[in-house]
Amino acid sequence: MVELRAMNESALHQSFAGDVYNSAVYLKRCFPEINAAVVTAIGQDKLSTQMLERFNSESLDTDFVFAHDTKVPGMYYIETDEAGERSFSYWRNDSAAKKVVEFLTADVVEQLSAGDMFFFSGISLAVIDPNTRAQFWQKVEQLKQAGVSIVFDPNYRARLWQSPDETKEQYHHAFNVSDVVLPGVEDFEMLYGLNTVQAVIDFCKPYDIHEVVVKNGPKSVVTMIGEEQLSHNITPVTHVVDTTSAGDAFNGVYLGARLSGRAIDDAVNLAAKAAGTVIQQPGAIAPKDIFQQAMRVAGL
Ligand code: AMP
Repeated sequence: MVELRAMNESALHQSFAGDVYNSAVYLKRCFPEINAAVVTAIGQDKLSTQMLERFNSESLDTDFVFAHDTKVPGMYYIETDEAGERSFSYWRNDSAAKKVVEFLTADVVEQLSAGDMFFFSGISLAVIDPNTRAQFWQKVEQLKQAGVSIVFDPNYRARLWQSPDETKEQYHHAFNVSDVVLPGVEDFEMLYGLNTVQAVIDFCKPYDIHEVVVKNGPKSVVTMIGEEQLSHNITPVTHVVDTTSAGDAFNGVYLGARLSGRAIDDAVNLAAKAAGTVIQQPGAIAPKDIFQQAMRVAGL
């Protein structure tokens, strides 16, 4: 999406962001040897061209960024009031990205089948045209059959859905098909009324999920890999500037570390360091030099 942020009364800062994209950026910055492709649809307008350039400048694979004939990217505006409270306005109901499933032809699915991992989120599910949901699940199932690890972050945004029941029905599909799930306790509290890490883990148990990684803000991260449950401490950041994309950064770096063969503890520590760095910067994407420096200090 196109991100707009007010600089002062007469100027806007324009950038690009989106939860899965943010994760891809942080994964690639930490693990450049991994090929990270973004699957989305943009338009043929100037901002779309700039968006594609931005993807390339982050060394992301853009082979699966499709250009829709008539649609343009979604957009959101971040407003910060005098007390520093942020609010968001969205223009995304008619975005190109809604149409992405139409571009996932048999040939594209075959190419994606060569990958190790396919990652999508609750926002991806909310955004795609509801008429294409059945097709989407079919394609995810095909990827799973081909041996691709399916990864899901529920990332619940109530206002993107018609009703909580609609969300739960779609999430049920997602939990059913996923090998790795990266939920936040806050999301589960809003959607299912479950407000503890243990309740989230217990919720996931009936599903055949191999790796559950529960994010609980600065309090802890709890992992459940097979039968082994581990609690990992987080060092809280004292100077939090903007928590946007904390979870996205965590996801990208965690998944990159796991794909690189790192152990759970190591992957969680690196991911938490990345998230802790990102929340000390405004916006979803932290400046590259500051981010890389922090990750070097963390031992990457
Ligand atoms: P959340 O989505 O709020 O659970 O945050 C995602 C990840 O960001 C957490 O798992 C932590 O690693 C990190 N994080 C969030 N808030 C803080 C904080 N105040 N201090 C340090 N790390 C944080």
